[in-house]
Amino acid sequence: MSAKPNILLVYTGGTIGMIKDYETGALKAFDFDQLLQNIPELRLLDCNISTSSFDIPIDSSNMNPEYWNELCEMIVSNYDDYQGFVVLHGSDTMSYTASAVSFMLENLDKPVIFTGSQLPIGDLRTDAKENLITAIQIAGLQKRNKPIVQEVCLYFEYKLYRANRTTKVSAEHFEAFDSPNYPALITSGVHLTVHEELLLKTNRKALKVHKNLVTEILLLKMYPGIPKSVVLAMLDISEIKGVVMETYGSGNTTTEGWFVEAIKSTIKKGIPVVNVTQCIGGSVQMGNYETSVALKKIGVISGADITSEAAITKMMYLLGQKLGHKVFKSVYETPLRGELT
Ligand code: ASP
Repeated sequence: MSAKPNILLVYTGGTIGMIKDYETGALKAFDFDQLLQNIPELRLLDCNISTSSFDIPIDSSNMNPEYWNELCEMIVSNYDDYQGFVVLHGSDTMSYTASAVSFMLENLDKPVIFTGSQLPIGDLRTDAKENLITAIQIAGLQKRNKPIVQEVCLYFEYKLYRANRTTKVSAEHFEAFDSPNYPALITSGVHLTVHEELLLKTNRKALKVHKNLVTEILLLKMYPGIPKSVVLAMLDISEIKGVVMETYGSGNTTTEGWFVEAIKSTIKKGIPVVNVTQCIGGSVQMGNYETSVALKKIGVISGADITSEAAITKMMYLLGQKLGHKVFKSVYETPLRGELT
């Protein structure tokens, strides 16, 4: 291995590499090589950087599991030649993609760091350069010839987070992401402060990639007054293979009989229902209040303190594993990639 780590920079699209179309005034993706020419500082970094790009870079609002497969393929096919990976991605769905990739890549022992920016790299006030440069530095961090970070992370505005703990919280501020239920793994100031005790440890097994994600999931967000007819119609969609239910506070819903019955018969049909909280931070604790006792009894799965982004992508991944109902519940409630406490 060369003394300098090899880092693969993968460009999927997003604001970081966009330019303004002067006819429409809208931002659109542009050529990756042009993007790199705007950052001569990259040559000063103490690592060998190679690049790869989606054929047609996309705004991340167009992201989907086919692109996730393509991205995982790019990482897996280059896995032995690189010590770390940095993925440039639009911020809008970055937490979804990064969460999905954390589940799709099992036994990861190298860093996969997602980053992007709120302003394009060519903009005078851009946040892109710091995000990109520090993400690459973190991907290259080594201790005894081994990467220090061995998991999927998201770097934005001076903080490295576990990717599947993040959520986009601002369309305005440079600090666009938060990880409400797990502290930052690395903070960037004058020095990079690595909180090693928070990092996932590798299990030394061979890397495995899981590409068969199941996407037929209903995200059922509770709101006061949600009509019975609407809930029943949604749960009645024949394609649905799993439900993520966004509930109030620590996992509470209305106790109205029709609602609990509807959820119960969904579970009876073999469709798993996961309970996650609408709150930005904190955890589901079914049984804490009367309004969640019935949910626990009928076999609703606790998402604990998982984000909705991780809840949905974990369900896509586990539905693809074709587990029996009981096993599905216990595997879902177990942290697989540090996504829940
Ligand atoms: N719409 C852009 C995207 O997600 C926003 C960004 O990159 O921050 O691709």
